[in-house]
Amino acid sequence: MSDIRTFVDGIFDELVAIRRDIHAHPETGMRETRTAALIRSELEKMGVDEIQQPLPTAVVALIHGKKGAGKCVALRADIDALPVHEETGLPFASVNEGVMHACGHDLHTTMLLGAARTLCHMRDQFAGTVKLIFEPSEDLMPGGARALVAAGVMESPHVDAIFGQHVCPSENDSVGRMQLYKGYFTSAVDLFHIAVHGKSGHGSAPHTARDAIACAGYLITVLQTVVSRRIDPMDTAVLTVGTMSGGDAVNITAGEARMVAVLRSFSDTGRDTAIAEVQRICKGIGIAFDCNIEVELEEGYALQYNDPTMIELVDKAVNGAGGKAEYIEKPFSGSEDFSFFGKLTGTPSAFMMIDAGRGDELVSLHNGKIVFNEEVIKPGVTGLTAIALEYLNQ
Ligand SMILES: [Zn+2]
Ligand SMILES: [Zn+2]
Repeated sequence: MSDIRTFVDGIFDELVAIRRDIHAHPETGMRETRTAALIRSELEKMGVDEIQQPLPTAVVALIHGKKGAGKCVALRADIDALPVHEETGLPFASVNEGVMHACGHDLHTTMLLGAARTLCHMRDQFAGTVKLIFEPSEDLMPGGARALVAAGVMESPHVDAIFGQHVCPSENDSVGRMQLYKGYFTSAVDLFHIAVHGKSGHGSAPHTARDAIACAGYLITVLQTVVSRRIDPMDTAVLTVGTMSGGDAVNITAGEARMVAVLRSFSDTGRDTAIAEVQRICKGIGIAFDCNIEVELEEGYALQYNDPTMIELVDKAVNGAGGKAEYIEKPFSGSEDFSFFGKLTGTPSAFMMIDAGRGDELVSLHNGKIVFNEEVIKPGVTGLTAIALEYLNQ
């Protein structure tokens, strides 16, 4: 497998140039027109066997091995950026004010293009097909994955297994370390749009009104008990009221208040419990304050289940190719719509974080100051390529 690394070293400078081009021209969810055109043109240049655009800004490509028919393995990268003001000061910083690749999807896109090029070069070393999925709008709900599955991306040819990776801010000495975890790896995310309907009135006569703000205040407090009192302490969840608004003037008792709460859960049981509790508490607090509380549940991303056999395959492939993959103790608290490719179709899948270094300051994903170490491109490309070859040749 050392020939993968040699080939990747040889195309590294070109990949860095592609990454910087994508980074400088970020586009948010479902608006990735330039990015999709760039991906398409790179795939055409390297000579993949087939290119499809199942959604306006999604690109899917196929590479057939020369060893004959076989299985189909999918590799997925997300391509969208975030509505974040870039503060990195990098020479290739975003030229689109207020939009930034702050989640590293520019690196994911580049790594998948690099893997595509390497696999085109190594066609005589595998049987079957590699399907490359460049997914739009991961960071903007409802996400691109569900739409891609609905558009048939997991069929023709039928995908037998799917893999994805995400960069993770880290110290620079661990750049390229792939994090392995079996079982539920990313959290489920759901939103609650809550409307408190009271009755407005003159501020001097509260008894004639039903104060939606006072009701909302208690509601926020009681919602804190969902995680602390209702979720099994051996399980975990996060419930945050992220926005809250209400009232028009200081001398008017508020007739309306609105809030949006976000739930992240780490098991199907925890998720079901928390959703039921939020709805019950809203009903109860509404009765207590003689207000009507409406809750609209917006189902977000599902839990990602990392198939143990697929994680073992990644371990073998990445370490066998001279990379570094190691097991970690805790799952990732974020959510990823990669989960839908497996969940909606029953396809075995695995999703890994890969240590991607840092700039002067270690900040989290989605921060306008985030800087990654571009060296991560090499192990990122090598790992994806090795995983595809290992799957198709097993
Ligand atoms: Zn993100
Ligand atoms: Zn992301």
